[in-house]
Amino acid sequence: MLFASEYTDERKLANRYVLSLMITVNTATLVFVSTNFYHLLYYTSVSIESSLGFNVLKLEKGIWYSVQVAALCFSHIYSIVVFVAKSQRSKGDYRKRAFFMLIGVTIPAVVFIVYILGLGPAYIDLLPFSYIFMGLLIGVGLFRYDILFLTPITHEMVFNAVDEAVLVVDRKGMLISFNKASKQFFPSLENIMAGESIHLIRELNDYDFELNRSKYEIYDKIYSFKVIEMKSNRGRIYVVNDITESEQAKKQLEILATTDKLTGIYNRRYFMEKIESNVIGGVFVIIDIDNFKEINDKFGHVEGDKVLSYFGAEFKSFFKDHMVCRYGGEEFAMFIQDDDLNKVFIKLEAFRKKIADNEHDLNFTFSAGMAKYDIDRISNAIIEADKKLYEAKENGRNQIRY
Ligand code: GH3
Ligand code: MG
Ligand code: MG
Repeated sequence: MLFASEYTDERKLANRYVLSLMITVNTATLVFVSTNFYHLLYYTSVSIESSLGFNVLKLEKGIWYSVQVAALCFSHIYSIVVFVAKSQRSKGDYRKRAFFMLIGVTIPAVVFIVYILGLGPAYIDLLPFSYIFMGLLIGVGLFRYDILFLTPITHEMVFNAVDEAVLVVDRKGMLISFNKASKQFFPSLENIMAGESIHLIRELNDYDFELNRSKYEIYDKIYSFKVIEMKSNRGRIYVVNDITESEQAKKQLEILATTDKLTGIYNRRYFMEKIESNVIGGVFVIIDIDNFKEINDKFGHVEGDKVLSYFGAEFKSFFKDHMVCRYGGEEFAMFIQDDDLNKVFIKLEAFRKKIADNEHDLNFTFSAGMAKYDIDRISNAIIEADKKLYEAKENGRNQIRY
């Protein structure tokens, strides 16, 4: 029963109370059999029977005999049940092994039933012989597929071969073990031994072990923490991964996907995504730099680029609280959550003046069109604002229309 429980990791039924009871019954049996002569608790009579032509021991069963039989039946039924469950839960060699064990523990049970029912040879208890077969079959199960001996070794190898730091901690926060990689993550582990507190790891001073935080930054590194709670609050396993590179790449990708390289403000795709997902209406503004082609023609593309990046920075800082973007070539757009067109106009007019009057090496102006929109009417507002921009251009540029 002990073996079956250990092997299958079944501890619900084979808990310490049941196991203590079994050990007590078996120890008592040993004592009662040895001292039977005085109390006759196990055998009520012991004599020699010669009627068969040879001598056999004739035994009459006592009270404790029944107790021992009950305990024996229980442990066999238990073993059969857990091995059936185990063989159903496993595959391949593991299943074959559990099957050998199952047959092994079933043999004595069958022989025992035969003996109790009196179907076997008279007076001869075959049970001890059946245990030889049980031992053999369990032996085959164990040695033929020597996974039992490989498992601890492979676990150890896997533990030390993984790139992640793995820290096993008991419920009091004492380190039970940690793998080789953890020393690279946390150099202070070089001077810490199993049995000491996890809080001694200097690099984890600021890590809140209770919060189960999944991301943690130490110096210039970003670590991900996976916390695995062990069954019945026995302890925890921390699996730590260095995600610095992937996090940086993610940030970089995010920047690349959402911002315009030249001006550093949002690109059109991201801007449209944002305003389309916005549930509140507002004012859509489109800006176009006046005669930009001339700037390019006169001063070259590089200077033209400088104007664009200068304008982008000014635009963003002037409308800090609003969503601005580079809409295309020398076009910019903005979304303001305000339904008062006049208020927006006043602010934009101040910006137009600022740009037109600036002391920049290259003087330039812009024209803008604006349109109000409610939810679901963005495309109409864009068309409307575009029309107004066209009007502003037609009307002599350097002005805002709505
Ligand atoms: P208008 O006042 O009517 O808007 O005149 P415009 O010259 O600004 O209009 P147009 O749309 O004809 O010209 C825009 C120019 O912007 C054409 C294109 O070469 C230039 N452009 C677009 N993208 C860039 C860029 O990234 N850098 C530079 N330097 N020029 C660009
Ligand atoms: Mg244009
Ligand atoms: Mg233009």
